[in-house]
Amino acid sequence: MKRLVYTDNAATTPISKNVYNAMQPWLTGGFGNPSSLYGLAWDAKRAMDGARATVAKGIGCDPDEIIFTGGGSQADNLAIKGFMPGRTAKGRKHIITSKIEHHAVLYTCQYMETLGYRVTYLDVDAQGRVDLGQLRREISEDTALVTIMAANNEIGTIQPLAEIAQIAHEAGALFHTDAVQGVGHMPIDVHAMDIDMLSLTAHKIRGPKGIGALYVKKGIDIVPLVHGGGQERGKMCGTENIAGIVGLAEAVRDATARMDEILPRVQAMRDRLVEGIMKIPYTHYTGDPVNRLPGTASFIFEAIEGEGLIMRLNNEGICGSTGSACSTGSLDPSHVLMAIGLPHEIAHGSLRLTLGEQNTEEEVDYILEKLPQVVETLRSMSPVWENGKPNMTAATELHAH
Ligand SMILES: *Cc1c(COP(=O)(O)O)cnc(C)c1O
Repeated sequence: MKRLVYTDNAATTPISKNVYNAMQPWLTGGFGNPSSLYGLAWDAKRAMDGARATVAKGIGCDPDEIIFTGGGSQADNLAIKGFMPGRTAKGRKHIITSKIEHHAVLYTCQYMETLGYRVTYLDVDAQGRVDLGQLRREISEDTALVTIMAANNEIGTIQPLAEIAQIAHEAGALFHTDAVQGVGHMPIDVHAMDIDMLSLTAHKIRGPKGIGALYVKKGIDIVPLVHGGGQERGKMCGTENIAGIVGLAEAVRDATARMDEILPRVQAMRDRLVEGIMKIPYTHYTGDPVNRLPGTASFIFEAIEGEGLIMRLNNEGICGSTGSACSTGSLDPSHVLMAIGLPHEIAHGSLRLTLGEQNTEEEVDYILEKLPQVVETLRSMSPVWENGKPNMTAATELHAH
């Protein structure tokens, strides 16, 4: 059998055995609609109530502050599109976000601009940390919402959530965070950190795809994203995905309960991987070297193309990802790599390997054996690689045309 080394856990993760076992009964016998009025339905309702309490416990809120959604993107959309209309009446039409948000936040904010809202996209530094000075300067009595991600999906940088929340609140604005990469990978307590809304999703923490949640602090009014039969307090209507909800709860419970066990082991593997990869010449480590997700290893290799790199790694059975352009059909490298100030001609050679608890030291060895060979082969074929080093003049010319 061909070997498979899955190191793209920031894209999605395999469902764990616990999650699978928790979901299974709700996909078969327990198919009742929780809104119906008989025993089969009550069972589903009870399972959903229990799951809501479990998810709430994982982030330190109350069960009635959780709204189930069809994943992280929907939670982000609900937070922004649901919250802003209510603030317009109070004269606040300004949103502050960052340049490195996931597109679920970024494109929602761009859409809000077409509706007449004003949006400020904060800069980040070379490590991907938001500019808090700029946040303080831009925030005003017009600002309704500050939405900044907990941790970045491409470069792993963790943002100072409690500080951002404080700045937002001092100006009378609320704070939403896209914590899709954060939950289970860093300590998060919405009350201790004073977070008003938080998005999470199951499939990044070994749960199923298409199910997530938005935490909305008690007392905050939002308008529905999906109108219908009144489910999820009328904010996200539609018959509930009970199996998914139960799977989400088990994923959150397991990931948050075992952080102390999982994260140091994942980080140790990641550190060894990074140390080995950084021995490849003309390689740069991207993201914050300290305040970063434990599983994220992200790099730039000069004089190669991320696309070719991913394809050749795939030939070796290694799954990774790149912020390089071609996959998106645009000519620009990812907005995150641009925002941290990487020159175009370098940003094209990006690689992200994201480790999870299911990865092994032996897989790290395997990557450290294959990756340097792949990089060397690609460089030997590269038009901007000459005499064992990158020819930057050629690189600039290449991408200018
Ligand atoms: C994956 C991801 C999302 C989207 O979540 P889905 O459940 O796939 O919709 C949003 N934000 C971040 C930071 C992500 O990594």
